[in-house]
Amino acid sequence: MNPTTFLPMLTRVLDEVNQISLPGPGFTRPSYSNEESRAHECIAGICEALGLKIRCDSAGNLFARLPGRDPSLPAVHIGSHLDTVGQGGAYDGTAGVAAAVALAAWFVERGQPPQADLIVTVTRAEESVWFPVSYAGSRMALGRLHPEELEARRRDTGRTLAEHMREQGFDPDAIRGLTPLRKGRFVEVHIEQGPVLSAAGDTFALVTGIRGGLRYRTAQIHGAWAHSGAAPRAARADSVFAFADLVTALDSDWAETLARGDDLAVTFGIVDAASPVHAMAKVPGELGFCLDLRSDDKAILERTDAKLAIRIAGIEAQRPGIQFALGPQSHSMPVQLSAVLLEGLRQAALALYRPLPEMLSGGGHDAAAFAAAGWDAAMLFVRNEHGSHNPDEAMHPQDLAEAVAVLAHWLDHKQDGN
Ligand SMILES: [Zn+2]
Repeated sequence: MNPTTFLPMLTRVLDEVNQISLPGPGFTRPSYSNEESRAHECIAGICEALGLKIRCDSAGNLFARLPGRDPSLPAVHIGSHLDTVGQGGAYDGTAGVAAAVALAAWFVERGQPPQADLIVTVTRAEESVWFPVSYAGSRMALGRLHPEELEARRRDTGRTLAEHMREQGFDPDAIRGLTPLRKGRFVEVHIEQGPVLSAAGDTFALVTGIRGGLRYRTAQIHGAWAHSGAAPRAARADSVFAFADLVTALDSDWAETLARGDDLAVTFGIVDAASPVHAMAKVPGELGFCLDLRSDDKAILERTDAKLAIRIAGIEAQRPGIQFALGPQSHSMPVQLSAVLLEGLRQAALALYRPLPEMLSGGGHDAAAFAAAGWDAAMLFVRNEHGSHNPDEAMHPQDLAEAVAVLAHWLDHKQDGN
């Protein structure tokens, strides 16, 4: 199987979808916006012309079905999302949709369908920068969105998810009674959002799991404001020095965790000691920060959180006048992807190329929503430069085509790897 066979359709989908955007730089298709809807219409049009059977659910998710050879097998949904963050890149989400359409087109042109039904699946509202709701579209399709989440407000417009859905012609009221998608299998192709594949010279990889997270979004350190020249060292309660202690302590805990062979990522994404009250000649009495802990193992997250409490108690004891207030905690569960699907994809890659590298996903994806609903779900990551969620995402369609060839082989053969 020559991967270049898939290139014309891959580039067509990428080009046509990326012509739909709010003004640049980069590409902007907000969740439940006219731009997202037009991108969905573009894919529906291509799939309809291929002869696929199109269905759109009351949340606006798109399903285009190519019937397989064996109707007794669970359907294989392949796809991703078409919304982007503000000033995002050309490939986050769109590459996975292009992969699904190119697969369907290949089977149609060949005249022999895949083993199981192939359903090109395009979800809505995956990027939670717009509505503070994770995987809104896919969770509605799966019957797992809580009705109160429909009241979440879009950050830029201030209007609710329900209002935006209605504006785009969908029916938020129907979500309560929606029959969840019949359980099948879900595979998502996505660009890697970090530099690992590029650095290793690998074109694509199998994703074995999606990291979960434990977050404090509004943590504070309270100290005491004082004059930078007049306050003696012993009398200070400097929130920045206390924060530095915490960063150093967590950095060493993180290194220790990795050395034990456990998975962890520690990020202080926002540090705020620059309010109007802060000044050059003041000992800072306040500091705000975010802490984002990620791991493939819930127990590691809990252990790190417990260690965090011990570290904070230690710093408070050493620095009189300092008090930490972590604020509310939010978390998402780590997800293991399907061992059966991973084995099938491993075998397909071996048959076509070579053993595939395997890695974890640091970011969340629709595949996590499908896995949480009890589906067999899997992901492939394709090499990409410059990270994601920015206009500089850089993926070579040829790399995507190689990953698509593995899926074509897998869909054409027994899918459980046995
Ligand atoms: Zn994405």
